[in-house]
Amino acid sequence: MSNLEELIQKVADLIRQSEKVIVFTGAGVSTESGIPDFRSPGGVWQKYNPEDFYYQKFISSEESREKYWKMSREFYEPLKNAQPNAAHRSIVELEKMGKLDCVITQNVDNLHQRAGNSPEKVIELHGTAISVSCLTCRKKYAREEIQSRLLRGVRVPKCDQCGGILKPDTVSFGQSMPPRETEEAFHRARNCDLMIVIGSSLAVQPAAAIPLEARESGAKLVIINRDPTYHDSYADVVIHGSAGEVMSKILNRLKGG
Ligand code: NAD
Repeated sequence: MSNLEELIQKVADLIRQSEKVIVFTGAGVSTESGIPDFRSPGGVWQKYNPEDFYYQKFISSEESREKYWKMSREFYEPLKNAQPNAAHRSIVELEKMGKLDCVITQNVDNLHQRAGNSPEKVIELHGTAISVSCLTCRKKYAREEIQSRLLRGVRVPKCDQCGGILKPDTVSFGQSMPPRETEEAFHRARNCDLMIVIGSSLAVQPAAAIPLEARESGAKLVIINRDPTYHDSYADVVIHGSAGEVMSKILNRLKGG
């Protein structure tokens, strides 16, 4: 058995022995669907300066909002056309097998739900890119509608009900994570048997503390990521590889293949 096959076997065994599995995902689970992550070469942060996108800047300056919407318009195009990949589908299979407690995701692309995970099992820590809200009157818009305004040449869309500032329902730098989702994620992490991290550098806090919370509460920890992460040394099994390929192999092994 190759080293990779041994690691795959170990993860399959851990899943077999567990009743409550949490899958924790980051941008890397969706790159095979054509949505770039932020930190890898070619990612958003090589093209834009994250400092320009702090929430405080967004709400206080029209110039910052213009920069933000330019980046956001570009980021939304691959996201809108993306289809779930083999990694998303493997997580749906874990749910069908009755193993999945929940998916805790930092992603905003809705691909777990579109792949077929039950929406109530998906905890979105950083919000969602598929809707936009007015920061004044809270009117909600489909992102599609706002995207077509941007593509028609509008630089900074405004609320058509009150003229207020519109912002995608994603969590920006400087904005706190949604309290209900954050609390639920930490609570579930403390009560799972196994946490599988897929496609996250585990660099973004406080989300990255969730896998460690699970580990400290006695759960096993598996990390599947193309590159080393900040928390590899805490994991029971680390696999450096592609999310789709590794997850498909794990599911095949679980199904006896
Ligand atoms: P990150 O950019 O910090 O890290 C992504 C990690 O995924 C990297 O370490 C990389 O090695 C790995 N990776 C990339 N492709 C992979 C693949 N095919 N298989 C396995 N691993 C792969 O991402 P992050 O930790 O999720 O943090 C970035 C933040 O930006 C997130 O909080 C998220 O909110 C947001 N974001 C979301 C999306 C999305 O919704 N799809 C995309 C980009 C960024």
